[in-house]
Amino acid sequence: MRTWTAPNVPQLPGTPPPLRLYDSSTGATLEHDRDDLRVWICGITPYDSTHFGHANTYVAFDTLARVWRDGGRPLATASNVTDIDDPLFERAEQTGQNWYELAQTQTQLFREDMEALRVLPPDTLTSITEILDPLEELIRKMEKDGTAYRVPGPEGTEFIYADVSTDPKFAAAPIFDDMDLVATFDERGGDSTREGKRNKLDPQLWKGVKGNNYRPGGGEPGTWRPGWHIQCALMALQNLGVVDVHAGGKDLIFPHHEMSEHHMREMTNGDADVDIHAHAAMVSYEGEKMSKSLGNLVFVSALRKDGIDPRVIRLAILGHHYRVDWEYDDDALVAEAERLARWKDGMDAPVGAGQNADSHEFLARLRAVLADDLNTPAARDIVDDYLVGRVAWPTDDDKAIARNAIDALLGIDL
Ligand code: ZN
Repeated sequence: MRTWTAPNVPQLPGTPPPLRLYDSSTGATLEHDRDDLRVWICGITPYDSTHFGHANTYVAFDTLARVWRDGGRPLATASNVTDIDDPLFERAEQTGQNWYELAQTQTQLFREDMEALRVLPPDTLTSITEILDPLEELIRKMEKDGTAYRVPGPEGTEFIYADVSTDPKFAAAPIFDDMDLVATFDERGGDSTREGKRNKLDPQLWKGVKGNNYRPGGGEPGTWRPGWHIQCALMALQNLGVVDVHAGGKDLIFPHHEMSEHHMREMTNGDADVDIHAHAAMVSYEGEKMSKSLGNLVFVSALRKDGIDPRVIRLAILGHHYRVDWEYDDDALVAEAERLARWKDGMDAPVGAGQNADSHEFLARLRAVLADDLNTPAARDIVDDYLVGRVAWPTDDDKAIARNAIDALLGIDL
């Protein structure tokens, strides 16, 4: 499906330092001085989009993309829209809308929010409805190979599962040592107790199969559904070949990302090892994690409609390290609007007077903190130091480098 329009990203002089990025599977922060990077970012289910939690995740990985591309390093990114999902169907039923139209409308709203926030679009954006044929083909092959098996479901249907017990790497990373995997699996949509499963944690590949027919009733999903984890695994490999960075909100660490990686290994005879597991923190509001089920959502589109400058929303997000949970409150937007005004005043100061402004040094400082696991709060402080109270620029060049650095690396166009 269509992505969205890319913002202009100015080229910066010089070379950035190697990126150090935290890997949530091991807890290690490692240097990644490699030639290119292929990033899979799990996308939205297209309803209730785009809330602040979504925006927080996509701005976090937008910073990763901007920092990586600085200096001309090749980057490939792919993402998806989960347009076959029970909550989407439930919402469509509640509101009397066609589920496909609801998904289309919400995806378009998401695109507009991403454009407003100046998030770089992924190279490919794929919806589940676009990959049903290859997905079905893949699972038929897994059944043939014996890595998938069937369990009876309601009304003569069957569920198809993947057997995770054959994969020694499954849930073997240190992050899973202290996690109650079965409880977490069940809390997040799993079905550990279904009779007939070989292993409690085996993920669903497809439900509602009748004999040889994966889609009884035709192309419209009704009682049948492909599993969530296999969808992302297939789309990631189809679009990127190999996934170096597996990215998303941290609530996806288990089971979604671990299951998807299991599937990717199965599909490549163990070759598809993900290097970096990058997970963005959760945003809470009024004391609770911002979530659809609690209904405590703050929407980017609603804030935009209220006249909030998208740069203010972006600054509110950048003020928090991407791995640290934080609580949204409306006052933060007021404070960030004031910051944006101070930055603009500094940037608009006239050229020609004697005030010192070594823009190359400013750029080097920004690059250094961002290369250190995307430390955007430190980057924001450096811009504060540099711009707030500025009354003059020595040269046009200094001013242009500063403007371009803030635009290219932080996505704030002054
Ligand atoms: Zn996913």
